[in-house]
Amino acid sequence: MRLKSLHIHGFKSFAKKADLTFNTAITGVVGPNGSGKSNVVEAFRFVLGEQSLKSMRGKKGEDMIFNGGKDLTRANRASVRVVFDNGLTDINGEYKRLFDSYSFDEVVVERAVNRDGSNEYLINGSACRLKDIQELLSEANIGGSGHHIISQGEADRLLSSSNKERKEMIEDALGLKIHQYKKEESEKRLMKTKEHMKEVESLRRELAPHLRFLKKQVEKLEKAKEVRQQLTELYREYFAYEKVILDGEIADIE
Ligand code: ATP
Repeated sequence: MRLKSLHIHGFKSFAKKADLTFNTAITGVVGPNGSGKSNVVEAFRFVLGEQSLKSMRGKKGEDMIFNGGKDLTRANRASVRVVFDNGLTDINGEYKRLFDSYSFDEVVVERAVNRDGSNEYLINGSACRLKDIQELLSEANIGGSGHHIISQGEADRLLSSSNKERKEMIEDALGLKIHQYKKEESEKRLMKTKEHMKEVESLRRELAPHLRFLKKQVEKLEKAKEVRQQLTELYREYFAYEKVILDGEIADIE
């Protein structure tokens, strides 16, 4: 996976728009204490859909927005945009893209938060849901709160993590997340289908007496139709016979 650039605007200490371009495999961000290095890492977490504000040293969505500085007024919106290189890459003789479902050479993921706490998510400039971003990232094995981002003090966490947490990290690294996610989705759909089946079954039970009544009505109507036809035939025969008699009588009178 290769990151092309990161664009931060109004996020934490980034009052003005900051564009960070990553032209090399390894990039170091240097600066004095409190200059915003960790905020860059948190901008990554944020744009990748992180929902834990605590992991971004905040309590509410508003804490992610620039809160005003020396000569600058506070911002109303924080936005972070990350550009992934999605060009075809030779992987063991096979040309593949980072995000298989996108045939563009770049995939842009964007997230913004407003002062009212509402979030906006975009993929390649089109508004989408958080779920779509999570799905997209898991396709490329990128976890928002996964082990890919090791923040200050987190090395300790890796070493002292429980077996369960370690299992999750390994599963994440193996790319099982997308399958787990799909499994959960399928299970949810299965549950819904079962519920629908139950509803249909109870409706069928409810409708059964009415259906029996309607069936009887149909049978009666068919029988009536048949009798009506027979009656018409008999009338025809009767009147033909009558006509012959009447014609005879008319002839006699004349
Ligand atoms: P260190 O090297 O000490 O870890 P750092 O370079 O990683 O520091 P950060 O922790 O990223 O620095 O940045 C902290 C700075 O960001 C602080 O000066 C803090 O006031 C500022 N900051 C954080 N949130 C906001 C916000 N919402 N609005 C304005 N400034 C903010």
